[in-house]
Amino acid sequence: MPVKKITRRWLFNSFGVIVFIIVAIEIVAAVGISSYYYNSVRQTLLSRAESVNTIFKQYADDPNATDFTALVRAYVSEFPARDRMELMTVNARGEVDLTSSGFEPLPEDKSNLRDYLDALQTSESGRYVGWINGQKVMAVSVLSPVEGHDSLSAVRFMTGLVNVDKQIRVIIAGMIVLGLFILVIVLFSSSYFISSIVNPVGLVGETARKIAQGDFTARLENKTDDEIGELCDIINHMASELGAAEQIKNEFISSVSHELRTPLTAIQGWAETLLSDGGADKDILGKGMGVIISETSRLSQMVEELLDFSRMQSGQLRLIFDKTDALAELSEAYLMYTERAKREGIALVYEENDSIATVNGDKNKLRQVFVNIIDNAIKYSDAGGTVTITTRLTPATVHIDVTDSGIGIREEDLAQIKKKFYKVDTTRRGSGIGLAVADEIVTRHGGTLELSSVYGEGTTVSLVLPLLGNRN
Ligand code: ADP
Repeated sequence: MPVKKITRRWLFNSFGVIVFIIVAIEIVAAVGISSYYYNSVRQTLLSRAESVNTIFKQYADDPNATDFTALVRAYVSEFPARDRMELMTVNARGEVDLTSSGFEPLPEDKSNLRDYLDALQTSESGRYVGWINGQKVMAVSVLSPVEGHDSLSAVRFMTGLVNVDKQIRVIIAGMIVLGLFILVIVLFSSSYFISSIVNPVGLVGETARKIAQGDFTARLENKTDDEIGELCDIINHMASELGAAEQIKNEFISSVSHELRTPLTAIQGWAETLLSDGGADKDILGKGMGVIISETSRLSQMVEELLDFSRMQSGQLRLIFDKTDALAELSEAYLMYTERAKREGIALVYEENDSIATVNGDKNKLRQVFVNIIDNAIKYSDAGGTVTITTRLTPATVHIDVTDSGIGIREEDLAQIKKKFYKVDTTRRGSGIGLAVADEIVTRHGGTLELSSVYGEGTTVSLVLPLLGNRN
Protein backbone atom coordinates (compact mmCIF):
# COMPACT_ATOMS: atom_id res chain seq x y z
CA MET A 1 0.00 0.00 0.00
CA PRO A 2 1.48 3.39 -0.97
CA VAL A 3 -0.26 5.07 1.99
CA LYS A 4 1.88 3.45 4.61
CA LYS A 5 5.08 3.70 2.66
CA ILE A 6 4.85 7.43 1.93
CA THR A 7 3.92 8.23 5.54
CA ARG A 8 6.74 6.06 6.86
CA ARG A 9 9.22 7.62 4.48
CA TRP A 10 8.09 11.07 5.57
CA LEU A 11 8.43 10.10 9.24
CA PHE A 12 11.99 8.95 8.72
CA ASN A 13 13.14 11.56 6.23
CA SER A 14 11.45 14.80 7.18
CA PHE A 15 9.97 14.52 10.61
CA GLY A 16 12.98 12.60 11.95
CA VAL A 17 15.33 15.29 10.68
CA ILE A 18 13.19 18.06 12.19
CA VAL A 19 13.11 16.26 15.57
CA PHE A 20 16.88 15.80 15.43
CA ILE A 21 17.47 19.48 14.59
CA ILE A 22 15.14 20.72 17.36
CA VAL A 23 16.75 18.41 19.95
CA ALA A 24 20.22 19.52 18.85
CA ILE A 25 19.23 23.21 19.04
CA GLU A 26 17.73 22.69 22.51
CA ILE A 27 20.83 20.93 23.81
CA VAL A 28 23.15 23.64 22.45
CA ALA A 29 20.87 26.39 23.79
CA ALA A 30 20.64 24.70 27.23
CA VAL A 31 24.41 24.42 27.50
CA GLY A 32 24.81 28.03 26.33
CA ILE A 33 22.25 29.39 28.77
CA SER A 34 23.76 27.49 31.74
CA SER A 35 27.24 28.68 30.99
CA TYR A 36 25.97 32.24 30.44
CA TYR A 37 24.27 32.27 33.86
CA TYR A 38 27.24 30.65 35.65
CA ASN A 39 29.58 33.14 33.99
CA SER A 40 27.46 36.07 35.11
CA VAL A 41 27.55 34.80 38.69
CA ARG A 42 31.30 34.35 38.43
CA GLN A 43 31.78 37.85 37.02
CA THR A 44 29.68 39.33 39.83
CA LEU A 45 31.69 37.48 42.47
CA LEU A 46 34.97 38.44 40.79
CA SER A 47 34.18 42.13 40.64
CA ARG A 48 33.01 42.05 44.27
CA ALA A 49 36.26 40.35 45.28
CA GLU A 50 38.30 42.88 43.36
CA SER A 51 36.58 45.86 44.94
CA VAL A 52 36.97 44.31 48.42
CA ASN A 53 40.66 43.74 47.61
CA THR A 54 40.98 47.43 46.69
CA ILE A 55 39.45 48.42 50.02
CA PHE A 56 41.79 46.07 51.94
CA LYS A 57 44.75 47.47 50.03
CA GLN A 58 43.69 50.98 51.07
CA TYR A 59 43.55 49.75 54.70
CA ALA A 60 47.08 48.33 54.34
CA ASP A 61 48.45 51.45 52.67
CA ASP A 62 46.76 53.91 55.09
CA PRO A 63 49.51 55.36 57.33
CA ASN A 64 46.89 56.39 59.93
CA ALA A 65 45.44 52.91 60.24
CA THR A 66 46.81 51.19 63.29
CA ASP A 67 45.35 47.65 63.21
CA PHE A 68 44.95 46.28 59.68
CA THR A 69 43.59 42.92 60.91
CA ALA A 70 40.92 44.59 63.02
CA LEU A 71 39.84 46.72 60.08
CA VAL A 72 39.53 43.67 57.84
CA ARG A 73 37.62 41.75 60.52
CA ALA A 74 35.24 44.70 60.96
CA TYR A 75 34.67 44.97 57.21
CA VAL A 76 33.98 41.28 56.80
CA SER A 77 31.54 41.12 59.68
CA GLU A 78 29.75 44.23 58.43
CA PHE A 79 29.79 43.19 54.76
CA PRO A 80 26.62 44.80 53.35
CA ALA A 81 25.53 42.11 50.82
CA ARG A 82 26.02 39.19 53.16
CA ASP A 83 22.46 37.95 52.75
CA ARG A 84 23.18 37.22 49.07
CA MET A 85 26.79 36.07 49.17
CA GLU A 86 29.36 35.14 51.73
CA LEU A 87 32.63 37.02 51.99
CA MET A 88 35.65 35.18 53.40
CA THR A 89 39.28 35.85 53.84
CA VAL A 90 41.86 33.15 53.26
CA ASN A 91 45.13 33.20 55.18
CA ALA A 92 48.58 32.33 53.90
CA ARG A 93 48.11 28.67 54.96
CA GLY A 94 45.16 28.39 52.61
CA GLU A 95 42.54 28.28 55.35
CA VAL A 96 39.38 30.31 55.69
CA ASP A 97 40.10 32.87 58.35
CA LEU A 98 37.04 35.12 58.50
CA THR A 99 33.49 34.73 57.15
CA SER A 100 30.77 37.34 56.79
CA SER A 101 28.14 34.84 58.01
CA GLY A 102 29.96 34.55 61.34
CA PHE A 103 29.75 30.75 61.24
CA GLU A 104 32.91 28.70 61.44
CA PRO A 105 33.18 26.59 58.30
CA LEU A 106 33.54 22.83 58.80
CA PRO A 107 37.18 21.69 58.96
CA GLU A 108 36.88 19.97 55.54
CA ASP A 109 35.52 23.21 54.06
CA LYS A 110 38.10 25.36 55.71
CA SER A 111 41.23 24.26 53.86
CA ASN A 112 42.14 22.63 50.53
CA LEU A 113 40.00 25.23 48.80
CA ARG A 114 39.99 24.36 45.13
CA ASP A 115 39.31 27.91 43.95
CA TYR A 116 42.08 29.24 46.15
CA LEU A 117 44.53 26.63 44.87
CA ASP A 118 43.54 27.57 41.29
CA ALA A 119 44.08 31.24 42.08
CA LEU A 120 47.54 30.44 43.40
CA GLN A 121 48.33 28.52 40.24
CA THR A 122 47.20 31.28 37.87
CA SER A 123 48.50 33.96 40.31
CA GLU A 124 45.17 35.68 39.87
CA SER A 125 41.79 34.07 40.57
CA GLY A 126 40.10 30.65 40.75
CA ARG A 127 36.60 29.28 40.69
CA TYR A 128 34.88 26.28 42.23
CA VAL A 129 31.40 24.91 41.62
CA GLY A 130 30.26 22.06 43.84
CA TRP A 131 28.44 20.94 46.94
CA ILE A 132 29.18 22.35 50.34
CA ASN A 133 27.00 21.42 53.30
CA GLY A 134 24.50 19.81 50.96
CA GLN A 135 24.08 22.99 48.95
CA LYS A 136 25.28 23.71 45.44
CA VAL A 137 27.54 26.72 45.53
CA MET A 138 30.01 28.74 43.49
CA ALA A 139 33.14 30.02 45.20
CA VAL A 140 35.58 32.52 43.68
CA SER A 141 38.97 33.39 45.21
CA VAL A 142 41.06 36.40 44.15
CA LEU A 143 44.59 36.77 45.50
CA SER A 144 45.02 39.81 47.70
CA PRO A 145 47.43 42.57 46.60
CA VAL A 146 48.23 43.22 50.29
CA GLU A 147 51.67 42.01 51.27
CA GLY A 148 53.15 41.29 54.65
CA HIS A 149 49.97 40.13 56.33
CA ASP A 150 49.81 36.33 56.75
CA SER A 151 46.18 36.57 57.82
CA LEU A 152 45.17 37.74 54.32
CA SER A 153 46.27 35.82 51.25
CA ALA A 154 43.06 35.99 49.23
CA VAL A 155 39.53 37.26 49.30
CA ARG A 156 36.90 34.60 48.70
CA PHE A 157 33.26 34.97 47.75
CA MET A 158 30.73 32.17 47.83
CA THR A 159 27.08 32.09 46.79
CA GLY A 160 24.39 29.42 46.49
CA LEU A 161 23.33 28.37 42.99
CA VAL A 162 19.83 27.16 43.87
CA ASN A 163 18.09 30.18 42.40
CA VAL A 164 20.32 30.30 39.33
CA ASP A 165 19.72 26.59 38.66
CA LYS A 166 15.99 27.11 39.12
CA GLN A 167 16.01 29.92 36.60
CA ILE A 168 18.00 27.84 34.12
CA ARG A 169 15.57 24.94 34.57
CA VAL A 170 12.58 27.24 33.90
CA ILE A 171 14.15 28.52 30.68
CA ILE A 172 15.05 25.00 29.50
CA ALA A 173 11.54 23.78 30.30
CA GLY A 174 10.16 26.72 28.27
CA MET A 175 12.40 25.76 25.38
CA ILE A 176 11.27 22.13 25.55
CA VAL A 177 7.63 23.22 25.51
CA LEU A 178 8.32 25.49 22.54
CA GLY A 179 10.12 22.64 20.74
CA LEU A 180 7.21 20.27 21.37
CA PHE A 181 4.79 22.93 20.19
CA ILE A 182 6.77 23.35 16.94
CA LEU A 183 6.82 19.56 16.48
CA VAL A 184 3.07 19.31 16.99
CA ILE A 185 2.49 22.08 14.42
CA VAL A 186 4.86 20.40 11.95
CA LEU A 187 3.11 17.08 12.60
CA PHE A 188 -0.32 18.55 11.95
CA SER A 189 0.55 20.59 8.88
CA SER A 190 2.60 17.74 7.39
CA SER A 191 -0.03 15.10 8.02
CA TYR A 192 -2.54 17.38 6.29
CA PHE A 193 -0.11 17.73 3.38
CA ILE A 194 0.62 13.99 3.30
CA SER A 195 -3.04 13.07 3.35
CA SER A 196 -3.61 15.55 0.50
CA ILE A 197 -1.19 13.39 -1.52
CA VAL A 198 -1.78 9.93 -0.12
CA ASN A 199 -5.59 10.00 -0.34
CA PRO A 200 -5.78 11.06 -4.00
CA VAL A 201 -2.97 8.60 -4.86
CA GLY A 202 -5.07 5.85 -3.28
CA LEU A 203 -8.08 6.93 -5.35
CA VAL A 204 -5.96 7.13 -8.50
CA GLY A 205 -4.73 3.58 -7.83
CA GLU A 206 -8.27 2.31 -7.25
CA THR A 207 -9.56 3.91 -10.46
CA ALA A 208 -6.54 2.75 -12.48
CA ARG A 209 -7.23 -0.81 -11.23
CA LYS A 210 -10.86 -0.53 -12.39
CA ILE A 211 -9.71 0.72 -15.80
CA ALA A 212 -7.18 -2.12 -16.00
CA GLN A 213 -10.03 -4.54 -15.33
CA GLY A 214 -11.91 -3.14 -18.32
CA ASP A 215 -14.21 -0.56 -16.72
CA PHE A 216 -13.50 2.32 -19.09
CA THR A 217 -16.31 4.42 -17.62
CA ALA A 218 -14.38 4.84 -14.34
CA ARG A 219 -13.40 8.48 -13.83
CA LEU A 220 -11.52 10.47 -11.21
CA GLU A 221 -12.92 13.64 -9.75
CA ASN A 222 -10.37 16.38 -10.32
CA LYS A 223 -10.39 18.69 -7.31
CA THR A 224 -7.03 20.45 -7.61
CA ASP A 225 -5.05 22.16 -10.33
CA ASP A 226 -1.69 20.78 -9.19
CA GLU A 227 0.30 17.75 -10.36
CA ILE A 228 -2.24 15.38 -8.77
CA GLY A 229 -5.03 17.14 -10.68
CA GLU A 230 -2.99 16.78 -13.86
CA LEU A 231 -2.52 13.07 -13.14
CA CYS A 232 -6.30 12.71 -12.69
CA ASP A 233 -6.88 14.44 -16.04
CA ILE A 234 -4.35 12.18 -17.76
CA ILE A 235 -5.93 9.04 -16.29
CA ASN A 236 -9.42 10.23 -17.26
CA HIS A 237 -8.17 10.97 -20.76
CA MET A 238 -6.50 7.56 -20.92
CA ALA A 239 -9.74 5.88 -19.83
CA SER A 240 -11.79 7.68 -22.47
CA GLU A 241 -9.19 6.87 -25.17
CA LEU A 242 -9.18 3.22 -24.08
CA GLY A 243 -12.98 3.21 -24.09
CA ALA A 244 -13.03 4.70 -27.59
CA ALA A 245 -10.41 2.19 -28.77
CA GLU A 246 -12.43 -0.65 -27.26
CA GLN A 247 -15.56 0.56 -29.04
CA ILE A 248 -13.68 0.93 -32.33
CA LYS A 249 -12.25 -2.58 -31.91
CA ASN A 250 -15.71 -4.05 -31.30
CA GLU A 251 -17.15 -2.19 -34.27
CA PHE A 252 -14.22 -3.36 -36.39
CA ILE A 253 -14.80 -7.00 -35.45
CA SER A 254 -18.48 -6.69 -36.23
CA SER A 255 -17.82 -4.88 -39.56
CA VAL A 256 -15.25 -7.45 -40.65
CA SER A 257 -17.52 -10.35 -39.71
CA HIS A 258 -20.32 -8.71 -41.62
CA GLU A 259 -18.06 -8.05 -44.60
CA LEU A 260 -16.98 -11.68 -44.65
CA ARG A 261 -20.50 -13.01 -44.25
CA THR A 262 -22.05 -11.05 -47.14
CA PRO A 263 -20.00 -12.64 -49.98
CA LEU A 264 -20.11 -16.04 -48.24
CA THR A 265 -23.90 -15.89 -48.19
CA ALA A 266 -23.99 -14.99 -51.91
CA ILE A 267 -21.55 -17.79 -52.78
CA GLN A 268 -23.48 -20.32 -50.71
CA GLY A 269 -26.81 -19.22 -52.19
CA TRP A 270 -25.64 -19.45 -55.77
CA ALA A 271 -23.82 -22.74 -55.19
CA GLU A 272 -27.04 -24.27 -53.79
CA THR A 273 -29.10 -22.89 -56.70
CA LEU A 274 -26.66 -24.29 -59.25
CA LEU A 275 -26.59 -27.64 -57.46
CA SER A 276 -30.36 -28.00 -57.49
CA ASP A 277 -30.53 -26.84 -61.10
CA GLY A 278 -27.77 -29.25 -62.11
CA GLY A 279 -26.32 -26.73 -64.58
CA ALA A 280 -29.23 -27.25 -66.99
CA ASP A 281 -29.92 -23.55 -67.51
CA LYS A 282 -26.79 -22.10 -69.11
CA ASP A 283 -27.87 -18.51 -68.35
CA ILE A 284 -28.31 -19.21 -64.65
CA LEU A 285 -25.07 -21.18 -64.60
CA GLY A 286 -23.20 -18.29 -66.19
CA LYS A 287 -24.73 -15.68 -63.88
CA GLY A 288 -24.22 -17.84 -60.80
CA MET A 289 -20.61 -18.65 -61.60
CA GLY A 290 -20.00 -14.96 -62.30
CA VAL A 291 -21.31 -13.99 -58.85
CA ILE A 292 -19.32 -16.78 -57.16
CA ILE A 293 -16.12 -15.68 -58.91
CA SER A 294 -16.59 -11.97 -58.17
CA GLU A 295 -17.60 -12.56 -54.52
CA THR A 296 -14.63 -14.91 -54.07
CA SER A 297 -12.28 -12.29 -55.42
CA ARG A 298 -13.92 -9.70 -53.12
CA LEU A 299 -13.31 -12.05 -50.20
CA SER A 300 -9.68 -12.64 -51.05
CA GLN A 301 -9.20 -8.90 -51.62
CA MET A 302 -10.57 -8.28 -48.14
CA VAL A 303 -8.45 -10.96 -46.55
CA GLU A 304 -5.43 -9.52 -48.36
CA GLU A 305 -6.29 -6.09 -46.98
CA LEU A 306 -6.62 -7.48 -43.45
CA LEU A 307 -3.29 -9.28 -43.76
CA ASP A 308 -1.64 -6.11 -45.05
CA PHE A 309 -3.12 -4.18 -42.20
CA SER A 310 -1.86 -6.65 -39.64
CA ARG A 311 1.61 -6.62 -41.27
CA MET A 312 1.51 -2.81 -41.28
CA GLN A 313 0.67 -2.79 -37.56
CA SER A 314 3.60 -5.06 -36.74
CA GLY A 315 5.91 -3.13 -39.10
CA GLN A 316 6.28 -6.14 -41.38
CA LEU A 317 4.50 -4.88 -44.48
CA ARG A 318 7.11 -5.66 -47.16
CA LEU A 319 7.00 -3.93 -50.52
CA ILE A 320 8.79 -5.33 -53.56
CA PHE A 321 10.03 -2.27 -55.44
CA ASP A 322 10.63 -2.45 -59.15
CA LYS A 323 10.25 -0.29 -62.25
CA THR A 324 6.47 -0.05 -62.51
CA ASP A 325 4.09 1.85 -64.76
CA ALA A 326 1.65 3.34 -62.27
CA LEU A 327 -0.85 4.28 -65.00
CA ALA A 328 -0.93 0.69 -66.29
CA GLU A 329 -1.88 -0.48 -62.80
CA LEU A 330 -4.52 2.23 -62.64
CA SER A 331 -5.98 1.01 -65.94
CA GLU A 332 -6.13 -2.53 -64.55
CA ALA A 333 -7.97 -1.34 -61.46
CA TYR A 334 -10.35 0.67 -63.64
CA LEU A 335 -11.10 -2.36 -65.82
CA MET A 336 -11.85 -4.42 -62.72
CA TYR A 337 -14.64 -2.00 -61.81
CA THR A 338 -16.25 -1.24 -65.18
CA GLU A 339 -18.66 -4.13 -64.85
CA ARG A 340 -19.62 -3.39 -61.29
CA ALA A 341 -20.10 0.33 -61.96
CA LYS A 342 -22.39 -0.52 -64.87
CA ARG A 343 -24.32 -2.94 -62.65
CA GLU A 344 -24.79 -0.28 -59.98
CA GLY A 345 -25.77 2.42 -62.48
CA ILE A 346 -22.70 4.54 -61.91
CA ALA A 347 -20.77 6.10 -64.75
CA LEU A 348 -17.11 5.22 -64.30
CA VAL A 349 -15.06 7.52 -66.51
CA TYR A 350 -11.32 7.16 -67.04
CA GLU A 351 -9.84 9.96 -69.07
CA GLU A 352 -6.97 7.79 -70.18
CA ASN A 353 -3.87 9.30 -71.73
CA ASP A 354 -1.19 7.27 -73.44
CA SER A 355 1.65 8.32 -71.24
CA ILE A 356 3.71 5.97 -69.17
CA ALA A 357 4.36 6.92 -65.55
CA THR A 358 7.36 4.91 -64.42
CA VAL A 359 7.73 4.78 -60.70
CA ASN A 360 9.85 2.72 -58.37
CA GLY A 361 7.02 0.77 -56.84
CA ASP A 362 5.34 -2.43 -55.84
CA LYS A 363 2.91 -3.03 -58.69
CA ASN A 364 0.52 -5.24 -56.75
CA LYS A 365 0.31 -2.88 -53.83
CA LEU A 366 -0.15 0.16 -56.09
CA ARG A 367 -2.97 -1.62 -57.87
CA GLN A 368 -4.46 -2.43 -54.48
CA VAL A 369 -4.40 1.28 -53.59
CA PHE A 370 -6.17 2.23 -56.86
CA VAL A 371 -8.71 -0.55 -56.39
CA ASN A 372 -9.41 0.64 -52.89
CA ILE A 373 -9.95 4.25 -53.93
CA ILE A 374 -12.17 3.36 -56.92
CA ASP A 375 -14.04 0.87 -54.74
CA ASN A 376 -14.75 3.59 -52.17
CA ALA A 377 -15.81 6.05 -54.88
CA ILE A 378 -18.36 3.55 -56.20
CA LYS A 379 -19.37 2.31 -52.76
CA TYR A 380 -20.17 5.80 -51.48
CA SER A 381 -22.00 6.91 -54.65
CA ASP A 382 -25.61 6.24 -55.48
CA ALA A 383 -27.01 5.01 -58.74
CA GLY A 384 -26.88 7.76 -61.37
CA GLY A 385 -23.63 9.11 -59.97
CA THR A 386 -20.33 9.58 -61.76
CA VAL A 387 -16.82 8.53 -60.81
CA THR A 388 -14.11 10.24 -62.83
CA ILE A 389 -10.48 9.21 -62.89
CA THR A 390 -8.05 11.83 -64.22
CA THR A 391 -4.27 11.75 -64.45
CA ARG A 392 -1.63 14.39 -64.96
CA LEU A 393 2.13 14.16 -65.34
CA THR A 394 4.71 16.72 -64.26
CA PRO A 395 8.46 16.26 -64.89
CA ALA A 396 8.85 14.66 -61.48
CA THR A 397 5.46 13.34 -60.45
CA VAL A 398 2.30 11.63 -61.56
CA HIS A 399 -1.03 12.93 -60.22
CA ILE A 400 -4.09 10.72 -60.08
CA ASP A 401 -7.47 12.11 -59.02
CA VAL A 402 -10.52 9.94 -58.39
CA THR A 403 -13.58 12.17 -58.11
CA ASP A 404 -17.05 10.94 -57.26
CA SER A 405 -20.42 12.61 -56.99
CA GLY A 406 -21.32 10.56 -53.95
CA ILE A 407 -22.34 11.26 -50.38
CA GLY A 408 -19.26 13.33 -49.54
CA ILE A 409 -17.52 13.62 -46.19
CA ARG A 410 -18.13 16.18 -43.46
CA GLU A 411 -15.29 18.59 -42.67
CA GLU A 412 -14.86 17.18 -39.15
CA ASP A 413 -14.58 13.60 -40.43
CA LEU A 414 -12.13 14.47 -43.18
CA ALA A 415 -9.19 14.86 -40.78
CA GLN A 416 -9.85 11.43 -39.25
CA ILE A 417 -10.64 9.52 -42.37
CA LYS A 418 -7.13 8.08 -42.92
CA LYS A 419 -7.00 6.77 -39.35
CA LYS A 420 -7.29 3.03 -38.94
CA PHE A 421 -10.80 1.68 -38.23
CA TYR A 422 -12.33 5.10 -38.91
CA LYS A 423 -15.73 4.94 -40.60
CA VAL A 424 -18.03 7.92 -40.96
CA ASP A 425 -21.09 5.72 -40.94
CA THR A 426 -20.59 2.59 -38.85
CA THR A 427 -23.70 0.97 -40.33
CA ARG A 428 -22.27 1.07 -43.85
CA ARG A 429 -20.25 -1.76 -45.36
CA GLY A 430 -16.47 -1.59 -44.96
CA SER A 431 -13.84 -2.32 -42.35
CA GLY A 432 -12.41 1.19 -42.05
CA ILE A 433 -8.84 0.09 -42.71
CA GLY A 434 -8.65 0.47 -46.51
CA LEU A 435 -7.52 4.12 -46.54
CA ALA A 436 -5.10 3.58 -43.64
CA VAL A 437 -3.37 0.80 -45.60
CA ALA A 438 -3.49 2.80 -48.85
CA ASP A 439 -1.97 5.85 -47.14
CA GLU A 440 0.83 3.71 -45.69
CA ILE A 441 1.61 2.18 -49.09
CA VAL A 442 1.61 5.54 -50.89
CA THR A 443 3.79 7.11 -48.18
CA ARG A 444 6.24 4.21 -48.48
CA HIS A 445 6.43 5.06 -52.20
CA GLY A 446 7.39 8.61 -51.33
CA GLY A 447 4.00 9.89 -52.45
CA THR A 448 0.94 11.52 -50.87
CA LEU A 449 -2.73 10.65 -50.58
CA GLU A 450 -5.13 13.51 -49.84
CA LEU A 451 -8.91 13.71 -49.65
CA SER A 452 -11.05 16.74 -50.33
CA SER A 453 -14.78 16.64 -50.14
CA VAL A 454 -17.98 18.65 -50.06
CA TYR A 455 -20.58 16.94 -47.92
CA GLY A 456 -23.52 15.85 -50.05
CA GLU A 457 -21.73 16.68 -53.31
CA GLY A 458 -18.83 14.32 -53.65
CA THR A 459 -15.24 13.49 -52.85
CA THR A 460 -11.92 13.70 -54.62
CA VAL A 461 -9.02 11.47 -53.64
CA SER A 462 -5.74 12.94 -54.94
CA LEU A 463 -2.70 10.74 -55.26
CA VAL A 464 0.78 11.98 -56.08
CA LEU A 465 3.65 9.58 -56.78
CA PRO A 466 7.25 10.51 -57.60
CA LEU A 467 8.46 9.38 -61.02
CA LEU A 468 11.55 7.27 -61.44
CA GLY A 469 14.23 9.36 -63.19
CA ASN A 470 13.05 11.11 -66.41
CA ARG A 471 9.74 10.11 -67.80
CA ASN A 472 9.83 8.62 -71.26
P1 ADP B 1 -14.01 1.25 -45.60
O1 ADP B 1 -13.57 -0.15 -45.84
O2 ADP B 1 -14.95 1.42 -44.46
O3 ADP B 1 -14.45 1.96 -46.85
P2 ADP B 1 -11.77 3.05 -45.77
O4 ADP B 1 -10.59 3.19 -44.91
O5 ADP B 1 -11.55 2.77 -47.21
O6 ADP B 1 -12.69 1.96 -45.09
O7 ADP B 1 -12.60 4.37 -45.62
C1 ADP B 1 -12.83 4.91 -44.36
C2 ADP B 1 -14.10 5.74 -44.35
O8 ADP B 1 -13.93 6.89 -45.15
C3 ADP B 1 -15.26 5.04 -44.92
O9 ADP B 1 -15.93 4.26 -43.97
C4 ADP B 1 -16.15 6.18 -45.40
O10 ADP B 1 -16.94 6.65 -44.35
C5 ADP B 1 -15.15 7.26 -45.77
N1 ADP B 1 -14.88 7.33 -47.24
C6 ADP B 1 -13.83 6.83 -47.90
N2 ADP B 1 -13.90 7.14 -49.23
C7 ADP B 1 -15.06 7.85 -49.38
C8 ADP B 1 -15.70 8.44 -50.52
N3 ADP B 1 -15.19 8.38 -51.76
N4 ADP B 1 -16.85 9.12 -50.29
C9 ADP B 1 -17.38 9.22 -49.05
N5 ADP B 1 -16.83 8.66 -47.95
C10 ADP B 1 -15.67 7.99 -48.10
